[in-house]
Amino acid sequence: MEETIGVVGAGTMGNGIAQVCARAGYRVVMRDVEDEFLRRGLSSIDRSLQRDVDKQRLTGEAKREIVSRVSATTEMEGLREADFVVEAVNENFQIKAEIFRALDALTRPEAILASNTSSISITKLAAQTRRPGKVIGMHFMNPVPVMKLVEIIRGIATSDETYERTRSLTEKLDKVPLECNDSPGFVSNRVLMPMINEAIYALYESVAPRESIDGIMKLGMNHPMGPLTLADFIGLDVCLDILNVLHTELGDPKYRPCPLLKRYVDAGWLGRKTGRGFYEYER
Ligand code: NAD
Repeated sequence: MEETIGVVGAGTMGNGIAQVCARAGYRVVMRDVEDEFLRRGLSSIDRSLQRDVDKQRLTGEAKREIVSRVSATTEMEGLREADFVVEAVNENFQIKAEIFRALDALTRPEAILASNTSSISITKLAAQTRRPGKVIGMHFMNPVPVMKLVEIIRGIATSDETYERTRSLTEKLDKVPLECNDSPGFVSNRVLMPMINEAIYALYESVAPRESIDGIMKLGMNHPMGPLTLADFIGLDVCLDILNVLHTELGDPKYRPCPLLKRYVDAGWLGRKTGRGFYEYER
């Protein structure tokens, strides 16, 4: 039975995961590398919960209790007592591999180590540890407090018990777990990223202006937001990282990231989080 959930990374996904875990009654320890990133993560949790207080979906007292269940630290040591850890750091195999080795050395052998990776092999991350049966993919969607799906990915060695504990935790978070096997991009990004990439190619090749590309997909396909808006929302760096994984691991040129996406990332135009991507945002 999980009591304390560790979350590694306090960014877009990490602070959302910490929030939903605390809201479900778990104690949460959130770790990032700098105090400033933790401060931003905590204030994002605060703002998101305050919106619910303002809409009278949550009392002020309940909000204070949720917030008080989240502690933040820059020390890996703070995760020692966690029963279940969700890693949500940048989509980079080397960074994640280092974290999995450290978590394996630090936490109790029964603790489950989950990754929120969008595309990296769970089997490869599990192989960094001496507990591959206890490593699993737990892929939340953005924004975490709103989106119901958690894609649960079994690595080759993931045990049935690990899967069951993860499924049960997901349901306690009031989310819907859907299972898939370990393959680059799993189901969600295997299908989504080629669509986003194609929309960027359409812009790059002047097939239509950004508003038309997004509008056609919104009105024509009933998508809640157009692919360029969605890419800005996800983060253009995250999109590029995922496309690179699909391209390298599946070896098919159809996944080649559009040069325009690379150029935007080089420019630091990463979407909403930097105030500029395919669109401009107030920060
Ligand atoms: P982000 O850039 O917003 O946050 C990443 C955080 O990890 C940063 O705060 C960074 O300082 C921190 N970090 C880096 N190294 C660390 C370390 N060694 N220890 C602790 N913290 C560390 O990224 P994000 O969008 O939250 O993505 C995180 C993960 O979630 C990625 O694997 C991404 O693919 C996945 N994901 C993202 C989305 C999305 O829409 N953004 C959706 C689903 C899954």
